[in-house]
Amino acid sequence: MPRKKTPKFQSLTGMHDILPEDQKYFYEIYKTAKNIADFYGFGEITTPILEQAELFSRGVGMATDVVKKQMYTFRTKGGELVTLRPEGTASIVRAYIEHGMRTLPQPVKLWYFGPFFRYEKPQGGRYRQFWQFGFEIIGDASPVEDAQVILIFYKILEELKLKNLIIQINSIGDHQCRPYYKRLLGSYLRAHHSSLCADCRRRIKENPLRVLDCKEEKCQSIINSAPQILDHLCRECHDHFKEVLEYLDNLGLPYHLNPYLVRGLDYYTRTVFEIFAEQEEFHELGDQESKNNQEKKESLSIISKNALAGGGRYDTLVKLLGGKETPAFGAAGGVERIVEAMKFAKIKLARTQKPKIFLAQLGKQAKREILRLIEEFRQAKVPVAFSLSKDSLKSQLKLADRLGVKYTLILGQKEVVEGKIIIRNMQTGKQKITATKTIVQEMKKKISK
Ligand code: AMP
Repeated sequence: MPRKKTPKFQSLTGMHDILPEDQKYFYEIYKTAKNIADFYGFGEITTPILEQAELFSRGVGMATDVVKKQMYTFRTKGGELVTLRPEGTASIVRAYIEHGMRTLPQPVKLWYFGPFFRYEKPQGGRYRQFWQFGFEIIGDASPVEDAQVILIFYKILEELKLKNLIIQINSIGDHQCRPYYKRLLGSYLRAHHSSLCADCRRRIKENPLRVLDCKEEKCQSIINSAPQILDHLCRECHDHFKEVLEYLDNLGLPYHLNPYLVRGLDYYTRTVFEIFAEQEEFHELGDQESKNNQEKKESLSIISKNALAGGGRYDTLVKLLGGKETPAFGAAGGVERIVEAMKFAKIKLARTQKPKIFLAQLGKQAKREILRLIEEFRQAKVPVAFSLSKDSLKSQLKLADRLGVKYTLILGQKEVVEGKIIIRNMQTGKQKITATKTIVQEMKKKISK
């Protein structure tokens, strides 16, 4: 086999082109999110991709992996330290403060869809440029808002036809109860210091909560026996969380309490959640194995390790970024991961209307005329196919045949002069000649029969 030559220019590691076949999925996700956003009264906001670096170091937290290791930060020619946004919430909060949205009726509900950047180790479902959509409710402390955002994300994924969705949920307390828990966790982790990975040993000092989202194998057994924050919530946090769960129960949403879910960003308070899709993998089983088919099938049922969406409450972030004390709740979904889950589940998208008419031309004058005619069909909302690059009628008819259209309209020099066009029925091969002036209306009737 001839060796493929590596092109001189390739997309950067962890970055990828979104080709037309994937763009369809992106658009479907955008459309689904937008429909739900419109219904629930979220306004769409687009913020710049570049922000002051400090917005994230202060907002997301100095001890987080995102800030410590994953930001694309550089100095501009003007000497400003800027960052390619690694997440959406800090920018939205900046915009909320900058545009004085506090004077609007509260809460303010915003949503967004766009690219984000994290210098992560590229691996399954983890990219350096990836797309997210997010929903934020700023200006309401009530647990009903937590439940509303969780419901919205669950419904978006469900409407995209993803099945077996599971919400993992936890409360990480607030400024009253978390400091005590952090100390408790810190002393537990210090006792197991030597069994933790190098990053976690550092995390104990900076923020022991960050140890709980470590993915290293060697840290897992220590994390799994760590004290749980749910046992140490203050009364207010406990009641808030209980109410959120009651809303979820009432909505019939399936959730698992995960006492070690803390999420990778420092700004969260109280409720945090992530949504996963349980995926089943089927392998071809041999005869001997097929006896235990059912058993095997079950053992092959895996929960995808990557969250499709996640978020939580961030009651201190607005103040931290220079605004007044304002409670808020938000979440984001990862578009590439959702596309991957949809493809894995073999979810088919609704097809765009396939053209039933092909427009063929023969000669220079006909080519000129056909371009005008194509536009007439577009304005009448009748899809048509054509190939302006092909000059021979034979090759155009071959293409029309391959596309499976019902009719081909043929325009030659003679027809242009006479203001006529030929209609060829592709099934019977029969042809008739008709006036070009009324062809769009005539064809509209023909294909609607
Ligand atoms: P986060 O902003 O970390 O709360 O992440 C929200 C969602 O964005 C996650 O649940 C993922 O679906 C997605 N996501 C986060 N980081 C990445 C990444 N590096 N590559 C692809 N998707 C990501």
